[in-house]
Amino acid sequence: MRRPVVAGNWKMNKTITETVQFMEEFKPLVKNSNHCDIVIAPPFTALAEAVRAVQGTPIGISAQDVFWESEGAYTGAISAPMLVDAGCRYTIIGHSERRHYFGENSETVNKKIRVALRANLVPIVCLGESLAEQEAGLTHQVIQAQYRQGFAGLTGEDLSHIIVAYEPVWAIGTGRTATPDFAEQVHQFLRNMVQEQYGGGAARGLKILYGGSVKPENVKALLAEADIDGALVGGASLNASSFAGIVNHW
Ligand code: PEP
Repeated sequence: MRRPVVAGNWKMNKTITETVQFMEEFKPLVKNSNHCDIVIAPPFTALAEAVRAVQGTPIGISAQDVFWESEGAYTGAISAPMLVDAGCRYTIIGHSERRHYFGENSETVNKKIRVALRANLVPIVCLGESLAEQEAGLTHQVIQAQYRQGFAGLTGEDLSHIIVAYEPVWAIGTGRTATPDFAEQVHQFLRNMVQEQYGGGAARGLKILYGGSVKPENVKALLAEADIDGALVGGASLNASSFAGIVNHW
């Protein structure tokens, strides 16, 4: 039985003050929510304060990105050891907005996964096809290519420390959610690829989250699917009661 994960990606939203306010509002709403892992990814500037604000709770703090070198002349970059030092337990890697606006690709995703694993950060690795690719019926092909290249050379042991998030780009921030059936098929496809490569144990253990306009109103149907192990939530994670509504939908 895979323990579900509900993760919030705040993107470029919330100051330090707003982060602390959110946590104070959110913590009481989830104080009895022991049925899933709760993760929140604030912007870099608010990470350390977010960690302080959730101390003594099971809420885990995640970065939204990480650089693939540990230190050096990389202006503007943040390393995995720095994230660990700030108290992060997770980092999102390969979000479609990083791929679109910042030139991320499967090769950089692969390097970032490796550096995160070395630092004992849990990578939440995002995969997903664009609207044009989906309309052309290329969803599985795109997911397969992103998986093969992004996860190239990783071991089964590595995989056991990774969370995957299937996030169709056409569903992110658009209000257009994948149907539970469509998402489930992609999740099964991903799990089958893992099974072929690493065996049944690795496939059964891998947590695959769905992301793309998840809200309290649609989360139940999506997470009722056998291969959907949780949600990566953008917009609806910015509000404490709506994010708690997603966490507490079970
Ligand atoms: C995301 O940013 O990962 C995401 C899924 O956003 P939203 O929930 O707003 O679609």
